[in-house]
Amino acid sequence: MDIEERRLAAGLKRHLPLLTGPIEMIPLSRPNIPDEAHQRVSDVLRSGMLVHGKNGADFEQALSAYLGCQDVVVVSSGTAALHLALLALDVGKGDAVLVPDFTFPATANAVLMTGAEPVLVDVEPVHFNISPEALEKAIRSYKGDAKLKAIMPVHEFGSPANLAALRDLAARYDLHIIEDAACALGASNEGALIGGPSTLLSCFSFHPRKTLTTGEGGAVSTNDAQLASRLRRLRNHGMERGPDGFTFVEASTNYRLTDFQSALGLSQLSSLDQWIETRRKIAERYIGRLKPLSEELGVQLPAQAPGHSWQTFMLVLPDRFERDAVVKAMRSEGVEVNLGAQCLSAIGLYGEATLLGNVSVARRLYHQGLAIPMFENLRADEIETVCATLETVLRNAAARG
Ligand SMILES: *Cc1c(COP(=O)(O)O)cnc(C)c1O
Repeated sequence: MDIEERRLAAGLKRHLPLLTGPIEMIPLSRPNIPDEAHQRVSDVLRSGMLVHGKNGADFEQALSAYLGCQDVVVVSSGTAALHLALLALDVGKGDAVLVPDFTFPATANAVLMTGAEPVLVDVEPVHFNISPEALEKAIRSYKGDAKLKAIMPVHEFGSPANLAALRDLAARYDLHIIEDAACALGASNEGALIGGPSTLLSCFSFHPRKTLTTGEGGAVSTNDAQLASRLRRLRNHGMERGPDGFTFVEASTNYRLTDFQSALGLSQLSSLDQWIETRRKIAERYIGRLKPLSEELGVQLPAQAPGHSWQTFMLVLPDRFERDAVVKAMRSEGVEVNLGAQCLSAIGLYGEATLLGNVSVARRLYHQGLAIPMFENLRADEIETVCATLETVLRNAAARG
C-alpha cells in the first residue's frame, strides 16, 4: 500500500500534496516579522514581566505619536477594541448601531455582545464602504424600537470610508461614529490619518492578516481623555488605581495585550509606512497588468483611492463566473485566493429584522469578490504568476461558458 492508499484506508481524505510533494503556494498574505523583533520579544520573556508593562506603555505612546491622536489603548484583539469602544460610549440594550452589510462579522458581533442591535446597511460598489446615501435612507426609514446611537463604518481592506459625509450625517442625526479601522492602520482620508487627530474612536486589529501584527492584538485610538480612561478601566476588570490601591469601579473583562506582543508591535511600527508604500506599488502593478483582462472579461479592479493602505486587494468577478470554482482552480495552480468579506445579512446570524433597505451591492461583493495575494514581500515574479494564473483560469472558465 502506498501512502495515499493507507490514508484512504484509514478514512482520511485524499491528500494529493502527500503524493506529489508539497506544492509551493503563493500565500494570500504573510506576516513580516523584522529580525530585531526576536531580540525584543525574548528580552521581555527573560524579564519575567509578561503582562501589560513598559512595552505596552511604549507601544501606546508610539502609536499615538504615529497617528497624531491624544490616546491609544492597546487591547487583546481588534474585536476587543470594537467591543470596548461601544461599551465606553454606553452602547447597550435598547440601542441600535448602523453597520455596513459587507464586512468581517466581528463588526456586528461586537454590537450584539453589548446587547445592542446591529442595523445592516448596503455599501457602495467602488470603495466597498458603507454608502452615505443608503445610510441616510436607513436612518430616515428606521422604525425599530431601539434608539439609533452610533454608526460603525468600516475602512474596508484599508480603503478609507467617506468620513466627511459620515460626519455630516452623524451631526445631523445625533449619532456617534466608531470606526472599524481593523484593516486601516496607516491609511488616510483626505490627507488625515485614519484614527488620527479628528477621530472619536477608531479600532485597529493586529491579527496576522493585517499589515502590522502582534499575533492577536488590537488598539483603540481616541482624542477624548474621558473615553481613554474609561477604555483603560474596561480593559482591566473595571479597576482603577486610587490613593489606597485598586478599586473595582464597574464590572468588566480582561482585554489586556501582553508585554511581549507590544514589543512585537513596536518592532514593526517604524517600517509600516514603507510597507504600505510597497503595497501601493504592488496594487498599481496588479492594476496595470490586469487591465486588458479586466476590459476583455468585465472584471472589476479595485479603485486606487488616495490614502488606501491595501491590507487586501479584492477584484470583483462578473456574474457569469462562479467565484468558488475560480478559488479552487487558482489554489490547485498554487495561488492562494479567497473571498473578500462576508455579507452579514446573507450568513443568517443577524436575521432580516435588522436589515434596512436593499443590500444588492453587499450581496454581489460577497458572492463575486476575489482577494488575491497582497503582502509587501510579494516578489515581481510572484505578481506575474498570480496574474498569469488568473488570466488562464478566467479564460478557461469563459471558454467553457
Ligand atoms: C480583522 C477584522 C476584525 C477583527 O479583528 P481581530 O483582531 O481578528 O479580532 C474586525 N473587523 C474587520 C473589518 C476586520 O478586518
